Amino acid sequence: MDTFFHPEQLRHAPQTYFSRGQMRNPQEVPQRAERLLQGAKALGLNIRTPADDGTRALLAVHDIAYLRFLESAYRRWHAQPEDWGEEVMSNIFVRENNALRGILAEAGRYLADGSCPVGEFTWSASYWSAQAAVAGAQAVLGGARQAYSLCRPPGHHARRDGAGGFCYLNNSAIAARVLRDRYARVVVLDTDMHHGQGIQEIFYDAPDVFYISIHGDTTNFYPAVTGFENERGAGAGMGYNLNLPMPHGSPESVFFDRLDTALRAIRIFEPDALVLALGFDIYQDDPQAKVAVSADGFSRLGQQVAGLGLPTLIVQEGGYHIDTLDSNLGKFFNGFLESRE
Ligand SMILES: [Zn+2]
Repeated sequence: MDTFFHPEQLRHAPQTYFSRGQMRNPQEVPQRAERLLQGAKALGLNIRTPADDGTRALLAVHDIAYLRFLESAYRRWHAQPEDWGEEVMSNIFVRENNALRGILAEAGRYLADGSCPVGEFTWSASYWSAQAAVAGAQAVLGGARQAYSLCRPPGHHARRDGAGGFCYLNNSAIAARVLRDRYARVVVLDTDMHHGQGIQEIFYDAPDVFYISIHGDTTNFYPAVTGFENERGAGAGMGYNLNLPMPHGSPESVFFDRLDTALRAIRIFEPDALVLALGFDIYQDDPQAKVAVSADGFSRLGQQVAGLGLPTLIVQEGGYHIDTLDSNLGKFFNGFLESRE
């Protein structure tokens, strides 16, 4: 199975993570991708460097002004006469009524929270992470039954015009949009610990891309303001957004109960292709976990997703317990690939 990854993805190395009243140690670190890559190699997956497909697929999902900000922010921040620190990071968050005069106002507009500083290599790493998603989607369009996009930085929190939750470009949404070039109906199943509010926002009024998310209850948990059951879509997309939150402290059985509901919904939708937004932060020892999925749980997840029998692109999202990322990736793909043969 082809796995898409570009070494430039390792160069984004955030130094700042401000969350719930505290400066914390960065969790979305390059070692994550190294460990996942190690896991992919141990599985014998075919590691490929994505081609440079340009910005067209990115612009199908994101605003051009936002992409221009990401591309230029670091340079413009460091062109200031005073020392503003290494990373672009706003202390002002103003998404509305913002005249966007200057890089500080733009940072306040386009950075949605305190977990997404822009460093020297943030744009290039995010760009190539998105290219890994595009290449994976194109492989599936080209007839591959499955492919893995080893995306890092992750993507599902990235808004149409905003970075957040360690995410800059919405890799899963970009991939789903590419798959729509040939497939009439695409489902995005998001099993990361967190609600992917970026994917939800991007496809909220779309009946052709069904977004289903299983995540920890977002009451006092990131992203805190979305992810509730009553968010079901809008307009023609009403009903094509399904949020399946889990109470904090849930055992693994609750995750599989929600997965069962998700799989039933997918079968009713009869999609032509599936994007699995795969996070390992549901793992019991992950610093972000609010549920306790075991290593064997990832095999079971892989089996059940494989059982849908759909052309499938797996897009990497979160997972912050670095020491088990390779083994949990192995568990997932052992379950998935066994069930495909
Ligand atoms: Zn997550």
